[in-house]
Amino acid sequence: MSHRDACLVINAGSSSLKFSVFCGAGRSDLEAVLTGQISGIGTAPRFEAKDAARHVLADGILDEVGPGDRAGLLGFLLTWMRHELRDVRLVAAGHRVVHGGTRFDAPVRLTPAVLAELEALVPLAPLHQPHNIAAMTALAEVYPELPQVACFDTAFHRTRPWQAQMFALPRELTDEGVRRYGFHGLSYEYIAQRLPQIAPELAEARVVVCHLGSGSSLCGMRAGRSVDTTMGFTALDGLPMGTRPGAIDPGVLIYLMREKGMGPDELERLLYHKSGLLGVSGVSNDMRALLDSENPQAAEAVELFCFQVAKQAAGLAAAMGGLDAVVFTAGVGENSAPVRARVAEKLGWLGVHLDGAANRARATRISAADSRVPVFVIPTDEERMIASHTLAILARNAVHPPLAA
Ligand code: ADP
Repeated sequence: MSHRDACLVINAGSSSLKFSVFCGAGRSDLEAVLTGQISGIGTAPRFEAKDAARHVLADGILDEVGPGDRAGLLGFLLTWMRHELRDVRLVAAGHRVVHGGTRFDAPVRLTPAVLAELEALVPLAPLHQPHNIAAMTALAEVYPELPQVACFDTAFHRTRPWQAQMFALPRELTDEGVRRYGFHGLSYEYIAQRLPQIAPELAEARVVVCHLGSGSSLCGMRAGRSVDTTMGFTALDGLPMGTRPGAIDPGVLIYLMREKGMGPDELERLLYHKSGLLGVSGVSNDMRALLDSENPQAAEAVELFCFQVAKQAAGLAAAMGGLDAVVFTAGVGENSAPVRARVAEKLGWLGVHLDGAANRARATRISAADSRVPVFVIPTDEERMIASHTLAILARNAVHPPLAA
């Protein structure tokens, strides 16, 4: 039997590990063959997998290994894959890694030295980076020969001018890494590649991409390169999100510390889990539930969200010196016609006008024929981007083997 080369893509969180498998040799011929996740890591792990047609291949409790044994869980996944995908040969694994700091402006093959550098970045992303690293070390433990590649959420934004990367803080803080990094970079990079395929005339354009999901941010990109973005040092900055407030006056934090005696852990809970759409509405962090709700606070949460998307999109237009196109992507951006309509309405003065029917039908191009600024809905695919990077690095390494492992 001839085997097809495949790349395993891993997106590891605190209690879940999402995975997908892509077959093919490069960007143009990548075929998604499998997606799934191990959830409940540390408590009661559950294994789910679907094929490309979204048929369930597996769904059940995983009690063969210890609940927190990441190497054991990944070992299970690899064994399961060997049985399930008999015509596939795994050639590499690509990981979504939240933080590449100032050091990594592109994906990198994992070596012990790279791993040490990623560990040094943990203080910049303490809630995410350790889980990304744990998945890499666990995979190395069960399959040491498998090449692994780290793909960063920050890397795409390294092209921004210095003004967009610096806080107005004393230099020594900037020098030690307190900077605006920006996130969702793999999503923006995917859109930067897709948009010119859909609209070749926009290859050099100034585009605001609205990545609106449970985490949300915007990116202003020119000719497919990031000019500015709304997230900053952490994924808390910028837009209000499902449970995060987005940009707030830092004086609020001083007030909460002084007047309410809040420490870092309590502030972290407030800012990551209790704010945003959930905090404002008191109803839900899910945009669908808010749009369906009769509760006036739910309506306020939606309005607050759309207001900030439009306001910050206009700020990005200023950073780019103009606006030639808008793209909506991610859970809310791809699926919520009412949110797209309200954001577009607020950007009308910049020349953004939707075709109501096209918007409701979720067409690829949803702007009115006479809209100066064309507007698109483009589903993002961070996993495909990771697979594409991983296989490209593997191909380069095959031609130029590293001098030392
Ligand atoms: P993540 O940031 O976790 O990757 P997604 O990009 O998948 O999140 O977005 C998830 C969010 O998308 C959900 O919380 C929900 O609010 C929103 N969403 C999904 N479908 C719809 C819909 N039809 N209408 C409005 N919002 C939706």
